[in-house]
Amino acid sequence: MTTAPISRRPLFGAGLGLVLAAPSLVRAQGTTVNLYSSRHYDTDRALYDGFTTESGIRVRLIEGDADQLIERIRNEGTNSPADVLITVDAARLARAQEAGVLQPSRSAVLEARVPASLRNPEGYWFGVSRRVRVIMYDKQKGAPAGLLRYEDLAKPEFRGQILVRSSSHPYNLSLMGSIIAANGAEAAEAWARGVAANLARPPQGGDTPQFQAVLAGQGSLAIANTYYLARFGASAVPAEKAVYERIGVIFPNQADRGAHVNVSGAGVVRTAPNREGAVRFIEYLTSPRAQELFANGNFEYPVVEDVPPHPALAAFGPFKADALNAAEYGALSAQALQIMQRAGWR
Ligand code: FE
Repeated sequence: MTTAPISRRPLFGAGLGLVLAAPSLVRAQGTTVNLYSSRHYDTDRALYDGFTTESGIRVRLIEGDADQLIERIRNEGTNSPADVLITVDAARLARAQEAGVLQPSRSAVLEARVPASLRNPEGYWFGVSRRVRVIMYDKQKGAPAGLLRYEDLAKPEFRGQILVRSSSHPYNLSLMGSIIAANGAEAAEAWARGVAANLARPPQGGDTPQFQAVLAGQGSLAIANTYYLARFGASAVPAEKAVYERIGVIFPNQADRGAHVNVSGAGVVRTAPNREGAVRFIEYLTSPRAQELFANGNFEYPVVEDVPPHPALAAFGPFKADALNAAEYGALSAQALQIMQRAGWR
């Protein structure tokens, strides 16, 4: 089999007539998998080429923002060429499921390779890589005393110290969902109020600016996903490497439920013209070689246990992961947002 190049078509905005004209061209069953992905890493392309080499099935990649892709599949209706949807964060995967754009799948391969907590119990989506939301600090100032759990972030002694992005971002909604699941809604709201009171500044920017602000002295504790820091560890830019060397990582809740783990996930689209190819493609993503490429493309942890993470990520050390199913906290994201906004975490 020859390797067909992956065609990349940018998303020009949901529901455009121009875009809707394409499906008839790409509905050839069996020979193509149409992948709608909100990931955008160059390494992912090499990975999809590998699938074509192995299976003879071409991958057509359409990239876009997760919410736009979900909306686009809905607009395309039964004519949608989409076979597989890939997105990051359990809150977004839950959103896709609730929007009715996914269908459940069974696969002995996926059920064996992907741990139960990292896939939807009914098979609507499967985690293909994972990321951990941790607390970061300046190693030169030393590890903060009394900070071992997410719950500790609400302590008054950390007033003015916390740096974190906006509450409405899916990463924070998922973390909050896990806290609601662990402690109940009432305790979760008290926690959110404590965190909001401890913020060093109004939430702004993504995860990277939070730990950069720690080194700029704006606060002492950043909440961020592991891959943002690991990316700096693998960087050829000396200034980024220096940030990586100086930032310390705390995996919270190691003596109890474990650190909050989130996923990148893939699901079969409800109207998939090539359902069989779609499942085969997702299975391929969990093969050892694909896991290495897929996870390392964004410095995430593989979901398949015996595949090693990138050294820059592995350097943070081993940790205990919260075993709460990503589908459970993902489904709590609407409640999480209400609670955080009520608590004054903007
Ligand atoms: Fe991210």
